[in-house]
Amino acid sequence: AAAPIETDAVIVGAGPVGLFAVFELGLVDIKAHVIDILDKPGGQCAELYPEKPIYDIPALPIVTGQELTERLMEQIKPFGAELHLGERIDSLQRTADDRFLLRTDAGTEFLCKIVIIAAGGGSFTPKRPPLAGIEAFEGNSVLYSVRRMETLKDKRVLIVGGGDSALDWTLSLQPLAKSLTLLHRRDDFRAAPHSVEKMRMLVETGDVRLMIGQVTALHGSGNQLEAATVNTKNGEEKIDVDVMLPFFGLTMKLGPVADWGLQLNENLIPVDTEKFETSEKGIFAVGDINTYPGKLKLILSGFHEVALMAQQAHKYVYPGKKLLFQYTTSSSSLQKKLGVS
Ligand code: FAD
Repeated sequence: AAAPIETDAVIVGAGPVGLFAVFELGLVDIKAHVIDILDKPGGQCAELYPEKPIYDIPALPIVTGQELTERLMEQIKPFGAELHLGERIDSLQRTADDRFLLRTDAGTEFLCKIVIIAAGGGSFTPKRPPLAGIEAFEGNSVLYSVRRMETLKDKRVLIVGGGDSALDWTLSLQPLAKSLTLLHRRDDFRAAPHSVEKMRMLVETGDVRLMIGQVTALHGSGNQLEAATVNTKNGEEKIDVDVMLPFFGLTMKLGPVADWGLQLNENLIPVDTEKFETSEKGIFAVGDINTYPGKLKLILSGFHEVALMAQQAHKYVYPGKKLLFQYTTSSSSLQKKLGVS
């Protein structure tokens, strides 16, 4: 296995609050890596409401979830924080030398001095189709995301769903799959119109099979899927498949954060309001995941929290070093870090 990535801080979650934490930590010379299970930054803003306007971000009278994410990405650029997307932090342990070792589900390891949990409502988790015995195939022949496309080469692929993920993967996998069936419960797709159009063309040329209906049963042995029973308006049909990709959307579940030995209060992490530190020294919790008297789950509250958190973080990363309070407007040293002077 590769050696752990050594850094000052690991930020769990690339939602708006995790992203702004990069900025506040950067101003006090703390380098961070950010990890998110989603394949894009922005957390709830990017996943749940990219096109909806937000009206209560100070000085931005109206900004969509996607725009806010893009602006935060631009604002944190000077600090060069590395984003690790599509990976979930599964474990967090304190090491013998009082650092922290974190590990993702993809096996990436980080060794750091402080941890900032900005996990929002928890990790986004794919919704599981209600099919008996599906667990046995998960991870092998039932996949909720595609890590490496070549694993699907020459396979008989069944994609289920009618949104952007279902359509995007239909278009990307069709050229390399042995056969590809797209199954949706209605002949009406929520995906981008140009993807739907392309898919319809592939159906016309016979390169994609489109079925309208629902999977009612899975068949196979061990973890290997062999067939699926599909219920259509013409009755039941059993089709041969090697891999099924269900795209039924995502829900937020607290997930592995619950197993890190932190004190929890109804799935939230209690913190103080001076440092936003958890029951464990050196582990902070900011944004929607934390709780304290008067907490509001607002983006602007999270922004405030990370500014105060960074003050305490500096004490751990640079013990004994005094931190001067400075304005970005007038401090040439802050401006240098921001690359503006
Ligand atoms: P999130 O945005 O939830 O991001 C957390 C990220 O952490 C997620 O991407 C998740 O995948 C990741 N994560 C969690 N656990 C792990 C793990 N173990 N490993 C890797 N990654 C992990 N707020 C406002 O202020 N104004 C509004 O107008 C507003 N409108 C909203 C409208 C809607 C429809 C919704 C749903 C929310 C709205 N909110 C609004 C709330 C706002 O979106 C949240 O307060 C904000 O997203 C919280 O940011 P966060 O960074 O704390 O968490």
